[in-house]
Amino acid sequence: MQSPTPWPASTLDCGAQAAQLCIRKVADAYTTLASNLGSGRHGVPGSTRRQKVQAHPIRFRSLGAQPFDDRCLSWIHDADTDTDTGGSVSIWTVDGRLKNLRFTGKPDQIALLRTSRRGETDLVLRRCRGTLTAFLIASVVVPEPLASTGAHLHSSDGWIGVDLGVENIAVTSDRPLARELLATDGAGAPDGAAGRGSVKDRRTRNREVRQKLQRKNTKSAKRLLRIRARKEARFAADVNHQISKRIVAEAERTGRGIAVEDLTGIRERVRLRKPQRATHASWTFAQLGVFLTYKAARAGVPIVRVDPAYTSQRCTACGHVDKRNRTSQAEFVCRDCGFTAEHADILGADNIALRAPATWAQSTAPSAA
Ligand SMILES: [Zn+2]
Repeated sequence: MQSPTPWPASTLDCGAQAAQLCIRKVADAYTTLASNLGSGRHGVPGSTRRQKVQAHPIRFRSLGAQPFDDRCLSWIHDADTDTDTGGSVSIWTVDGRLKNLRFTGKPDQIALLRTSRRGETDLVLRRCRGTLTAFLIASVVVPEPLASTGAHLHSSDGWIGVDLGVENIAVTSDRPLARELLATDGAGAPDGAAGRGSVKDRRTRNREVRQKLQRKNTKSAKRLLRIRARKEARFAADVNHQISKRIVAEAERTGRGIAVEDLTGIRERVRLRKPQRATHASWTFAQLGVFLTYKAARAGVPIVRVDPAYTSQRCTACGHVDKRNRTSQAEFVCRDCGFTAEHADILGADNIALRAPATWAQSTAPSAA
C-alpha cells in the first residue's frame, strides 16, 4: 500500500492483522459518529454544537481500547481447573510478541472464559491510583435456557412489576422486595447500599460538586471532573447490578416473570420539576434495563416491557385515572373510590404487573403471516 506521507516507523512494522483491526476501529468510530449525527445526538443541523463535532476529525486517545483477534492475542489457561485462577496470554505489540503475561480474574469469570470465549478481546489500559493497569475485556457466548412458560403467566400474580423512578430507582409489586429495595436504594434509605448515604443523596451531592467544578472551568477542575464522572459511572453500574441481580433472583426463586416499563424515550416522556431533572437524566435507567434483561435471560426468567402510560396515576382498585390521585411523591389516594396505596411507587409497579400478561401473550403468540 502506497501512502503519500511516510508513516512513522513503528506503524510500518505493524502486522497485517493488527493493521486491519486499527482500520476497522477507525471505520467503526466514524460509522457511530454518522449514526449519532443522523439521530440528532449532536444537535440539529447547523447548530454550533453539531458543527463543532463535524469540523474535527475523531481523535483516539493513546491509551484507548484496542481490539485483538485470536491471531494477535492467544489465551493459555492454566492446566489446573480446580483452582481456576487464570493463565497467561501471548499478545502482539509493535515491539514484537509478548509472551507469558499472567492474567487473573474471579474463578467464575475464568471458568466462563475457558468454556465460552468467542471472538475479539479489547485491551484497555486504565490509570488506577497512578498505576497503569491492563484489562482484557473478552466477549463470551453463553447458551441461554429457554424462558419458562406456564399458565401462571396469564395472571398478573405471575409477574413482578418494576417501577423505575426519580426518588427510588426501582420499586417492585412484590411487597417484601419493594420494602427491601426502598430500604437499601430508596430516597429515604438512611445509609444506602454503600453505607454512605442514600443513592439519591449521593447523586444530589455529586451534582453539586460537578456544577461547582464546571463553573471553575480550570484545567485541574476538568481533570477532577473526568475522574469523578468515571467514579459516578462505576457507582451507578454497581447499584444497577445489585438491584437487577436481586430482582432476577427473586423472580427465579418464585418462578415469576419480570415486567418493566418500556424505557424508550423515558427522558422525553417524564416531565420533571427542574431540580429533579438533573438527577433523573444522570441515572442510567437504560443500563438497569439492559442488566435486568441479560440477567433474566441467563436465568430463564421471562421479561416483558410494558407501556408505562398512566401507571403512576391509575387506581389499581377501580381503574380510575387521574393526575390528582397521586397526592405527593410517595402518596396515592384515589379521587374516585378513596383507595389509598401503601406507596405510590409500589402502586406504579402493580399497574406494570397488571399489564404484563397481555404484553406477554402478544409477544409469545405465533405471529400471523
Ligand atoms: Zn379508585
